[in-house]
Amino acid sequence: MDHRFDVTERFAEGAQFIAGSLRGGTSGRTQPVVDPATGEQVYSYELAGPADVDAAVEAAQGAFAEWGGATPGERSDALHRFAAALAEDAADLAFAESLNCGKPIKLSTEFDVPGSIDNAAFFAGAARHLEGKAAGEYSADHTSVIRREPIGVVGSIAPWNYPLQMAAWKVLPAVAAGNTIVLKPAEITPLTSLLFAQAAQRAGLPDGVINIVSGAGRDAGERLVGHPDVRMTSFTGSTAVGKRVAEIATGTVKRLHLELGGKAPFVVFDDADLEAAVHGAVAGALINTGQDCTAATRAYVQRPLYDAFVSGVADLMATVRLGDPFDPSTDLGPLISHAQRDRVAGFVDRARGYATVVTGGEIPGGELAKGAYYRPTLIAGAAQDSEIVQSEIFGPVLVVLPFDSDDEGIALANDTPYGLAASAWSRDVYRAGRATREINAGCVWVNDHIPIISEMPHGGAKASGFGKDMSAYSFEEYTQVKHVMYDNTAVVRKDWHRTVFGDRA
Ligand code: NAD
Repeated sequence: MDHRFDVTERFAEGAQFIAGSLRGGTSGRTQPVVDPATGEQVYSYELAGPADVDAAVEAAQGAFAEWGGATPGERSDALHRFAAALAEDAADLAFAESLNCGKPIKLSTEFDVPGSIDNAAFFAGAARHLEGKAAGEYSADHTSVIRREPIGVVGSIAPWNYPLQMAAWKVLPAVAAGNTIVLKPAEITPLTSLLFAQAAQRAGLPDGVINIVSGAGRDAGERLVGHPDVRMTSFTGSTAVGKRVAEIATGTVKRLHLELGGKAPFVVFDDADLEAAVHGAVAGALINTGQDCTAATRAYVQRPLYDAFVSGVADLMATVRLGDPFDPSTDLGPLISHAQRDRVAGFVDRARGYATVVTGGEIPGGELAKGAYYRPTLIAGAAQDSEIVQSEIFGPVLVVLPFDSDDEGIALANDTPYGLAASAWSRDVYRAGRATREINAGCVWVNDHIPIISEMPHGGAKASGFGKDMSAYSFEEYTQVKHVMYDNTAVVRKDWHRTVFGDRA
């Protein structure tokens, strides 16, 4: 599904989508958009400045009364049309995502794009299922009713690793619940967020419901988080930036949803299917070139399987084909940028001083040298408290450590600040079941690692943040619960007034 188009022509008016139209930014600063597979610039645009953020928030606020007041059925219809519009644009979306991020086209085509369309279809249905507790007489003299209401304007900030899916995860639950939104994609990956907003407009969502400000974190991002008319901040990105965002959001008492970093453990017990675990570890570590917050990053393998696991993973990693993202046979694309490639290489180079690089650990030469490529890398012999085990690397790097008892394996899995995702590998339902209970993470897979589905929540524990994306649980973030209490008695002087008026009541 190769569907190339000229990005400069497509976004000639600029990379801000505000009140239903594309326009340029006003920051006075130009941002290049680079194809990481070649290092070539494919587009450049003027970044959003504070005035653009203000204009987008104003547009979202202007659209809120109509959109928030629409019936669930009306919003559902619009989102069904939106899902269909995204499906029509599937080839364009896959092309733009692969061009901007260097993702293998098979990944964009089979994962990013259909996942986002499915999300839209899910939230089209879910919009009609906003629930509250039953109304009732919790005091005999009153009837209580729960209203689940939209919050208002949501300001969302997304990372660069899955730009289209992040746009979908941020925007869809928010608008399904009746909010309007201003989304700031990462400044290096604005393309598919813009296509996403354009598809929504074609589907008939009113102007101003979805706005995109393509700007830098420090100015556009902080302005959006601190804006007094934005009622909620939903942030996906690193834990370090998440902390800063939380500080700013606190200043204006905003609701906050934080999806932060991860360092997912992959725990292999000695009765596991070795071949399944080896394949699962390589796929789980290399998906999206390891730039996945749930990627398998720390494999803990029980001693009897350890040697075979290490050699199996090293052999399988060596078969992975790096190459042109648009070649359908390419398994692994470049990292998002040369800067990210160098950051990953830095982690591995420092680890050489205290651990063994079993395979990989190099920047490929030849044809691939101009892109931000890095070979799949397996590291063994690192201590649990070392940087390579504890820090989020966000690249195609897996570290493997042995363990003896089940207690030890689970304790090591829990021993980082993060708690986003994990997997347990065993044929014994009791052993795997214990791991699912005792590993502190937002998701624990058993005998697999990575799959996600629209119906189930995604979100972290510990330093990986709080709140849920996807699923009906996301409505807990994007709605506020209001209690309405009706007096049933029509009595003028109520019994409880005695607490104020005493015997004069
Ligand atoms: P990042 O934290 O550097 O940037 C994320 C976004 O925040 C970008 O849009 C950026 O422009 C913006 N930003 C930067 N500084 C800001 C500031 N001071 N105020 C407001 N906004 C600011 O993250 P990244 O490098 O783009 O993405 C990788 C990170 O995202 C990894 O840590 C990864 O684990 C995390 N991530 C988490 C999830 C999840 O669901 N938990 C999903 C995807 C990515």
